Amino acid sequence: MILTICLVFTAAQLGQRVAVLDFVEPSAKGTRWGLGGTCVNVGCIPKKLMHQAALLGTAVKDAKKYGWQIPGPVSHDWATMAGAVQNHVRSLNWGHRVQLQDKKVKYLNLKGSLADEHTVKGLSKAGKETVLTAKNIVIATGGRPKYPTNIPGAMEHGFTSDDIFWLKKSPGKTLVVGASYVALECAGFLTGIGLDTTVMVRSIALRGFDQQMAGLVTDYMEAYGTRFAWKSVPKKVEKLPSGALQVTWVDGQTGSEARDTYDSVLWAVGRAPETKALGLDRLNVQLNNATGKIVVGADESTSVPNIFAFGDISEGRPELTPTAIKAGKLLARRLAGQSTELMNYDNVPTTVFTPLEYGCVGLSEEEAERRHGKDGIEVFHAFYKPLEFTVAERDASQCYIKVICERGADQKILGLHFTGPNAGEVTQGFSMGLQCGATYSHLLQTVGIHPTCAEEVVKVGITKRSGLDAAVTGC
Ligand code: NAP
Repeated sequence: MILTICLVFTAAQLGQRVAVLDFVEPSAKGTRWGLGGTCVNVGCIPKKLMHQAALLGTAVKDAKKYGWQIPGPVSHDWATMAGAVQNHVRSLNWGHRVQLQDKKVKYLNLKGSLADEHTVKGLSKAGKETVLTAKNIVIATGGRPKYPTNIPGAMEHGFTSDDIFWLKKSPGKTLVVGASYVALECAGFLTGIGLDTTVMVRSIALRGFDQQMAGLVTDYMEAYGTRFAWKSVPKKVEKLPSGALQVTWVDGQTGSEARDTYDSVLWAVGRAPETKALGLDRLNVQLNNATGKIVVGADESTSVPNIFAFGDISEGRPELTPTAIKAGKLLARRLAGQSTELMNYDNVPTTVFTPLEYGCVGLSEEEAERRHGKDGIEVFHAFYKPLEFTVAERDASQCYIKVICERGADQKILGLHFTGPNAGEVTQGFSMGLQCGATYSHLLQTVGIHPTCAEEVVKVGITKRSGLDAAVTGC
């Protein structure tokens, strides 16, 4: 929805008459939220704030080494954190509403479906129907978390990322099922605020990401207190008379059945697009049958000329808010006849906000090898120690930088990967370099800012191929 808001703001500013339909179906657990979509209400924003709560817990431990006298043991109160986060989210809901009014965008709290290629039917919570007609229709209805369908008790006793940020009381001892962004980020902040947390990994962590980096992220999490049940899949979830949830799973490493009890089970097993209720079949809007997503062209057009789709609902696009916001704004400009510029989906940077953050832009080492061959790439790397870790005596074994370049004259940078504090802030700047076609020599010509973690990126000099120790030792 934040995507739609950015698109409609742009369209309205360009003099278009715009109406936006928005309707939140409550989660299976009955969680509801306001205007702004997944990112604002049940995604990036509450996640980053809860990640910050966890980082502060680590900072409090570091603080003692830096001379802070902290009387007594420190403990965390879920209700205070969740209440404050929820209040911030509500303020964003309100802010978006006000901006829509200011920009004279017609906001309709209705669930939309397409009647024909120029007609949308909107249904209110009370069942009242409103019919709207439009020259162009843009779909950005995103996706919702999935529940596994073959695990008894999964939906009855578990919840998803649609619920976790709105829980009134602490989830307590939690089993997180899944091993991608959502799973690791949630498990990271739950561990960080002091909860006993286990991640159940079916195959690998962070599929699609550089697997060496994924290993560093999970190694750090394990060292930091998150438990991992590797190569394991849940079989059933049962509620015991005590109220505890008993989870039975098959341990893929031993083949034997195992069980443990938890206060909560969080399913983070992926997201499904919200296409079913849109009436797209009536209009022959082409979907990808395997994913259920809408097939789009480079200009976000669907198989019906005046219907467009962007964001998580569209096939093959990164499921990332800023990518979709940019795509939406560019689409609005094209629809208003102000521009022909298309979205560039290459070199989109991203960060996984795990306890040790991981930022990357460009290709993983695996993908670079697949495209250019093992001998066609040069990987420069470094293990470094963030200055703030030194006095705090924190282990920096997983703080690592990898710059993947084409091997040959130009040494164009293909991918940049960073684990460490503030990975998002570090990666954002370098992503512009990749957009500009930066080479390894551009990186070396860049002067570092001392003392920072980011400066280690412009100093990487050891190649993986050399087999030399990649630990940073000085200048
Ligand atoms: P995802 O990337 O689709 O990953 C799903 C995870 O669940 C995988 O680890 C998968 O394991 C596992 N899984 C699936 N079915 C399972 C089952 N039945 N039992 C056990 N494990 C199962 O989903 P996601 O983490 O929900 O993320 C969705 C999208 O949101 C991502 O594409 C990401 O781009 C976006 N996102 C971005 C951010 C950010 O920018 N920081 C944060 C959160 C989400 P396998 O690998 O074995 O299939």
